[in-house]
Amino acid sequence: MFSAIYFESAVRDHPRTHAILRRYRDLPQIECERYGEIFNRKSQNFRLQKENPALILARKHGGKVLPAPGGYGFDAAGSHYFSHMLNCIYDCRYCFLQGMYRSAHCVLFVNYEDFAAAIEQTLSDPPLPKEDIHRNSCHSARSRRISSSTLPTRSCDSAQDDGVVHLPTGAGEVASGAGQVFYSGYDCDSLAFEPVSGFAEYFVPWFAARSRAILELRTKSTQIGGLLKQEPIPNCIIAMSFTTHAAAARWEHGVPAIDKRLAALRRLQEAGWPVALRFEPLLPDMKPDACGELFEQVFHRLDPRRLHSVSSGLFRMPADYFRNALKLYPDEALFARETRTRNGVVALQHPNEEAWLRQIETALFRHIDPTNYYRCADENTDSEN
Ligand code: SF4
Repeated sequence: MFSAIYFESAVRDHPRTHAILRRYRDLPQIECERYGEIFNRKSQNFRLQKENPALILARKHGGKVLPAPGGYGFDAAGSHYFSHMLNCIYDCRYCFLQGMYRSAHCVLFVNYEDFAAAIEQTLSDPPLPKEDIHRNSCHSARSRRISSSTLPTRSCDSAQDDGVVHLPTGAGEVASGAGQVFYSGYDCDSLAFEPVSGFAEYFVPWFAARSRAILELRTKSTQIGGLLKQEPIPNCIIAMSFTTHAAAARWEHGVPAIDKRLAALRRLQEAGWPVALRFEPLLPDMKPDACGELFEQVFHRLDPRRLHSVSSGLFRMPADYFRNALKLYPDEALFARETRTRNGVVALQHPNEEAWLRQIETALFRHIDPTNYYRCADENTDSEN
């Protein structure tokens, strides 16, 4: 999987570094001062490097816990993200990471204990306001609860007698007093590297002892063995992303098949873990019928009544990342679609977007309670640039 292992001198003696170097003892192992020497080098080609990336073990210094962008995930006041890893072992063509970083090498920050201390500190501080930044991917959606008046009529069996859709506590909200939310998987996939990183193995017990802190692991991975060995905890949500079969086959390179992801989620759900579904990115050529088929498959395997939440989100990417991705893949049909740019964020244009989304949501609401759903959107997309 990797061509070489670099490690910073500062983490040379860290037990996680030792374990990983032992695991990759057959690969070249190179000591360096700071990971940026390799990761931020000029004239790197993300596309070429992705064929044969290196793993860099490093120490995270500042910025271990950051405020989540406005509208990211739940509408909670105290929402944060933390990135123990930069880059992903998968290669989704719609991913913003390929436009954000010069390098396709994977950086693993092994000092989890320092992240934990930073989270502890955050918990004892007053909640920070959300940041207004635009960085989006399948794992970094912004949420916008859609109001009851905009919800399509639902046909699931939990509809009220009066035919009106009632919205008690929405999926995009965290009840007050429920604590602060910490997202992982913003700059990586939370679980894809778990057998090596032991990320969830470390952090789940840590969060288990802090019930007012909520951890959301965003992933497309089936690496759930470590979770299944642990007792499920209510404040750790495993949120899995899905696109349609056609989109997954075309754009999600190296990602486990949809059926395998569903099998993993089912095992987690049966074991008592809170699981969530993220249907994103929605791409304009996805037909509502194809989404409907996906939903049939998903809810044949999962119990919708036990889902933590369900969301959807359109493809969007900061304009400079989009330009970088286009340079890397000039022949890529995905980037040749009609786009719109608002407030520095590029989205793929659908000629009849709202109606199309409604059709998809109508198909979704045949299976789930709409109150358990939120649609991700950029909050500041009203004015076009
Ligand atoms: S799984 Fe997520 S983080 Fe990884 S390449 Fe795909 S979109 Fe990017």
